[in-house]
Amino acid sequence: MLAISHLSKTYPNGVRALNDVTLNIDRGLFGLLGPNGAGKSTLMRTIATLQEADSGTITFDGENVSADPRLLRGKLGYLPQTFGVYPRIPAIELLDYLAILKGVADRKDQIDSLLRLTNLWDVRKRAVSTFSGGMRQRFGIAQALLGDPKLVIVDEPTAGLDPEERNRFHNLLSEIGENIVVILSTHIVEDVSDLCLRMAVLAGGRVLIEGKPSELIASLNGRVWRKSVPKQAIPEYRSTHTVISTHLFGGETRVHMLADAPPDAGCELVAPDLEDVYFSVLRDSAC
Ligand code: ADP
Repeated sequence: MLAISHLSKTYPNGVRALNDVTLNIDRGLFGLLGPNGAGKSTLMRTIATLQEADSGTITFDGENVSADPRLLRGKLGYLPQTFGVYPRIPAIELLDYLAILKGVADRKDQIDSLLRLTNLWDVRKRAVSTFSGGMRQRFGIAQALLGDPKLVIVDEPTAGLDPEERNRFHNLLSEIGENIVVILSTHIVEDVSDLCLRMAVLAGGRVLIEGKPSELIASLNGRVWRKSVPKQAIPEYRSTHTVISTHLFGGETRVHMLADAPPDAGCELVAPDLEDVYFSVLRDSAC
């Protein structure tokens, strides 16, 4: 449905934020995972037709969006990383203004059902400026869904949410991702592992890996080893082993290493997870 082809973008300050990015994204939830500065927001803004790439094309449903951004704007919902300042008016009124700006026809019905979907019905008369972080993000989804979009882009939506709100937000995203394309950009591995049918890792403006989380995890089967190591020995371990990640666990440091055979005495083979996938591709790209 969404085809991103050879997209590159260099900012005037010389930063190459996107470097030949090619991705094909179908219906369902797609996770774009990458560290800060990876180029995720640049890619999200470019898909949302808010900025132009230097080269490359984007097509949606076979239509060339790069040539005519208006083709996509009517089918798009966007929750940016920062939403700016919320006016002190009730949520339901703000949604109504936004619906008018979007040219939504059956405003009342849509607004009522979106407030219920996002679980904000009971607080609809409160100003959004008084909402908690999680409520604001749910409001952000409600406004993104106005006008029945076919493509929804959410940029770093769970940063700063507590576990309960993150869970609630995940449920909301999987509900809306059933019938449309939803792209979720995040630096939080659990956002992707819990939710997304497909994913890509972006770093340094490049796509490092792409696929189904379960298949990417399976590709590391039999190759991830764990060992508890004294903290002061970690630098040496990093120089002699392929260390993927280190975790403090109950006062000890657990090291995850990648190897085809036990890399060391006392290593334990563990079932890989998406964090192992993520840190191993980031490590490879940094080498
Ligand atoms: P992410 O969303 O993954 O954190 P961004 O797309 O925000 O990544 O940024 C990618 C790179 O481009 C970073 O090095 C960032 O500093 C740079 N960058 C982002 N926006 C601009 C801009 N408007 N002007 C110059 N550099 C920018």
